[in-house]
Formats: sequence, structure tokens, C-alpha cells
Amino acid sequence: MKHKGRFEARANEMRRKCAGILFGPPGSGKTTVVRALTSHRFMDVIETGNLLEQEVRLGTDLGRQIDSYKSAGNLVPTSIVKDVVLGALERVRGESVLFDGFPRHSEQVEVFCQLLQVHQLELCVVLILTLDVETAIQRLAGRRLCPGCGALYNLHTKPPRSAGQCDGCGRELIQRKDDRPEIVRHRFDTYQLETVPVIEFFKREFPGICLDESAAAPMHETGNCARERLEHFMRQRRK
Ligand code: AMP
Repeated sequence: MKHKGRFEARANEMRRKCAGILFGPPGSGKTTVVRALTSHRFMDVIETGNLLEQEVRLGTDLGRQIDSYKSAGNLVPTSIVKDVVLGALERVRGESVLFDGFPRHSEQVEVFCQLLQVHQLELCVVLILTLDVETAIQRLAGRRLCPGCGALYNLHTKPPRSAGQCDGCGRELIQRKDDRPEIVRHRFDTYQLETVPVIEFFKREFPGICLDESAAAPMHETGNCARERLEHFMRQRRK
């Protein structure tokens, strides 16, 4: 991957908005970190996996295409992901934005690089959550999602008050098709194969902005720790 020159050129230009990347295998709590960040209004976040899932739930032609990849635990083609990410980027109003789950493989690093350029963003931080596969499978087997308001539950650690129903809006909770154990294992393998080399690239080229965070603690703890570290790091950089 030969993108470093372009990132550096960006860093030298004045008054860029700040971009961050959040990496983490399935079940590492990326969504929990994101919710902790957005509840503190610290950064705008582009949640790639959840945006794709929303498209599936809308039942559009695009959603059906996405579902055919996603429900099998495969990566969605970059052309589709790019459109979804670009649409979300148009809606960003704040001074900093975190990309959750993008770029996910080497082809997307090139697209990411172009997005930074076009949208006048400087790469400021890369946060990497780490977790083992068995913990991920156990966690995701219990995950439930409200299709109405997007609230997240876990049957073991954060069950809804009334079985199967969202506490907030009363909708019936669902399990994502790709949270089934055999699919989680496949997603994990894909992460090792496709995403870990991307992380290694950023660690090699930008060691000063890469933060590792273990996600083995309960998710809300990981979420708060990661948010605090991220906020601290960004404040230091802005001084
Ligand atoms: P996540 O919630 O981040 O684990 O993503 C769930 C699923 O969404 C993945 O297994 C992929 O099918 C799809 N997905 C999320 N982000 C991307 C991406 N950057 N490129 C391709 N597919 C993605």
C-alpha cells in the first residue's frame, strides 16, 4: 500500500477537519464505542456496518443486494460501500468524524484516501479494538437489536425489561442474521485475512496515531475507556 505520501500531503495543509478510524473484529463493541462518542457529542461517526444493515431493513433493491453478501458474513463490494459512506459524509457537520469499519481491506484504503482529499480531512487517530474469537461468538449469540430505534441489548449482560421487546419503543427485537455463531467465525476469519493487513499498514506508517484497546472487558467499560482515550488523545493533538 503506497498511500503515505498522500496522507502526509493532507496533514501539511491548514485547517483540516479531523478523521479517525475505528477497527475491531466482530463482537469487539465498535457500536458501543460509537454510541459512547455520539452521546457525548464528541465526534460524528460513520457506522458502515449499521448503515448497510439499515439499507437491508428498508428492503430496497440495494438492500437486497447488500443482504446477499452480509447475511453470509461476506464483505459488501466496495462500490456499494463507497456510496453509502459518501452519503453519510455529506451529512457530517462537526469538526471531526470517525469511520467505523471503513476501510476494511486494502482496496478500500485507496477509496478512503480519496475521501480524505475531497472532503478536506486529516487522519488524526486510529483506534484498534482487540478480542479473541470465542468471546466474540459468545457475545454476538446474545445480541439483539431493535429494528425501530436501533437500541442494542444482550440477553446475558443487558436484557430488555420485557422479553423480546424494546424498552424504548416496544418493537419486537431481532437477531442479525450474521450474528449466528458459524457466520461470526467466518466474519472473524475475514477480518484476520483482509483487515489485519490494513491495520498493520496504518501501524507501520502512522505509529504515533494508532491506539490499541483490549475489548475483553464488558462492552460498556470498553466503550467508556475507548471514548476517554480518544477524547484525551484528540485534545492533546489540538493543543
Ligand atoms: P460490522 O457490524 O462492522 O461487523 O459489519 C457487519 C457486516 O457489514 C460485515 O460482515 C460486512 O458484510 C459488512 N461491512 C461492514 N463494513 C464493510 C466494509 N467497509 N466493506 C465491506 N463490507 C462491510
